Amino acid sequence: MSSNESLSSDRLTYALVGNPNCGKTTVFNALTGLRQKVGNYPGVTVERKEGECTSPRGERIRLIDLPGSYSLNARSPDEAVLRDVLLGRRADTPRPDRIICVIDSSNLERNLYLATQILELGLPTILVLNMIDVAEEKELKIDFTALEKRFECPVVPMQASTQKGLVELKFAIGKEELAAPGNIDLKLSPALSTGLQSGHQSLVEAGVVKKDALVAESLYLLSQHDPGHHGITDEQWPVIDAARLQFEQDVAAWEDQIVSARYDWIHENCETIVRRPGTAQASLTDRLDGFLLHPVWGWASVVGIMAVLFYLIFSIANGPMGWIESVFAAASNGVQGIMPPGDLRDLITDGVIAGVGGVVIFLPQILILFFFIGLMEDTGYMARVAFIMDRLMSKVGLNGKSFLPLLSSYACAVPGVMATRTIDSPKDRLITILVIPLASCSARLPVYLLMIATMIPSEQIPVVTKVGLMVSMYFLGTIGAFVFAWLFNRGLMKGESSPMILELPSYKAPSLKGIFLQLWERTRIFIRRAGTIILGISILLWAAATYPKSDSDDPSVRLSESIAGKIGHGMEPLIAPLGYDWKMGIGLLASFAAREVFVSTMSIVYSVEESDDDILPLRDRLLAEMRPDGKPRYTPLVCLSLMVFYVFAMQCMSTVAIVKRETNGWKWPIFQVGYMTATAYIAALLVYQAGTALGYQ
Ligand code: GDP
Ligand code: MG
Repeated sequence: MSSNESLSSDRLTYALVGNPNCGKTTVFNALTGLRQKVGNYPGVTVERKEGECTSPRGERIRLIDLPGSYSLNARSPDEAVLRDVLLGRRADTPRPDRIICVIDSSNLERNLYLATQILELGLPTILVLNMIDVAEEKELKIDFTALEKRFECPVVPMQASTQKGLVELKFAIGKEELAAPGNIDLKLSPALSTGLQSGHQSLVEAGVVKKDALVAESLYLLSQHDPGHHGITDEQWPVIDAARLQFEQDVAAWEDQIVSARYDWIHENCETIVRRPGTAQASLTDRLDGFLLHPVWGWASVVGIMAVLFYLIFSIANGPMGWIESVFAAASNGVQGIMPPGDLRDLITDGVIAGVGGVVIFLPQILILFFFIGLMEDTGYMARVAFIMDRLMSKVGLNGKSFLPLLSSYACAVPGVMATRTIDSPKDRLITILVIPLASCSARLPVYLLMIATMIPSEQIPVVTKVGLMVSMYFLGTIGAFVFAWLFNRGLMKGESSPMILELPSYKAPSLKGIFLQLWERTRIFIRRAGTIILGISILLWAAATYPKSDSDDPSVRLSESIAGKIGHGMEPLIAPLGYDWKMGIGLLASFAAREVFVSTMSIVYSVEESDDDILPLRDRLLAEMRPDGKPRYTPLVCLSLMVFYVFAMQCMSTVAIVKRETNGWKWPIFQVGYMTATAYIAALLVYQAGTALGYQ
């Protein structure tokens, strides 16, 4: 008995680690058979499993099955046991000599999060790529040799449930010499590296960690104040606390930075190691991806496709837009022909027809946009856009899973916010929800289109200019989303992001039927909005712009003295620095309900003001609008300032409602309306003031 025990301490000890459900216990059972002991770690109800196996050379090897975890940043007692055993801080369990890190190959990227942390500990490690049958089913191709080279440690593919790969694993385990793994060179900022080094140094000096310990050991002590850490004396805690405080002061959000550096590292390295599905079409998909996922050409393709898309929006939509315009004009004329003059007739022509027509006219352009989005989704290209974006997103601390919700928000923020439910990390999810309405949704499109048409009325100016302006607005909103995500990520709250696994499907021919079904769905939603929200607000606005009726014969004076006019005048001091007058104020205020209401409001405001006979397209009305000094009111600079305001402003009741529902309260929707409106105001102010200073009007 006693000889047996003394022998056991000489024996090579392996610890089995891995994510929950990666098949760790199955590997352990395959290796040990019945030679295992099950108990508990003292003081905690964490299962402790030990066993023995024999190497091909006949040596007896000790194995410990450690609790499964996604990360070494412990949050539960199980995870604390894992970390403390690996760092050799538990008196009841000697530090393992080597590690078997079990990885679920069908979820390689997620599993590598823990694996890279393990490798950083510097212990000789064998990577078991378990569940290769599942990976094969998913048509994932893993380059095991590349993996072995990258991590500089043995890689054993396995299917533990059928003992496939068991012999190879036993050979790897029995090797006399096993080198320490390669360095995981996370890209950390200089400040972060320095902070980490000096934190580590203070722990070394205080004797908390050994002189030759790797920085990774200190990392988990600096990470949190967790008395669950074993092997730390009461005298050592103040030293650790001081080092942590110093580090936090020197480098803001350093933990988050390390998390995202780790994801970056995994993404970069997995790109070449894992091949996503594709059987028959694999070669075509591969060749296309070589170009479309290329760091330079990939981006060039995204921008190029966007440009073509907007070019089509501006060129081929003109015809249908003209037809819609003439239908509404005919309706207006018809009503005027059959109805006697009076408030009811005005309500129908100036309120309903002008308001709804002003928005519906943009339907052709919106349909073209959605047709292309459908085409991109259906061919598999959209997943590539997501992949390219993901590299950028992780830089601002956004989870790659945030991309799809963000992307659908270019259509509408409401489904976008709902789609954030797929994001596991509460922090990432909240940040994504907060920045989603910055994506230029389709409700902004009418405003942009009207403003661009007013800015560039001449047919002589090449359409490229309009395209450029439009792309810039989308770009501005996107940049805004990234900047705010980055800010919120640092300031809002702490928490770990979760890695994402992005599937890249093979390219395929689009199904036009599916795309058209989707188009029909979108058209219905758009028309319904026009027939309900826009119609309702149009009627209210017409009333506000008509009553109380003044005695004046001049329609402009009457508008000015109406409720809407008074509100607009009241807003003028606030919005004059942005280049807007009281009439635009009415539009701005009304569009807090829904953005496209701006267009219908302006239609109504100018219809109410106009005498009945001259019905002009809205753009021409805007162009004819003069300031008191006789100069045009809608100068290109004013139009630009308005567009920029709409890029950033949070003007959508439906989004406010859905954010309230998804965040369980008013706090975040109110914050969102506040920060976005403030940004919109400041950005529009900057545009207008800088423009005027530069001599534009
Ligand atoms: P642990 O949580 O890491 O200990 O995972 P388990 O060993 O309990 O395994 C989780 C599940 O995966 C069990 O149902 C196993 O039978 C199954 N499993 C383990 N290895 C493999 C494998 O290589 N292929 C497949 N298809 N299933 C496996
Ligand atoms: Mg288990």
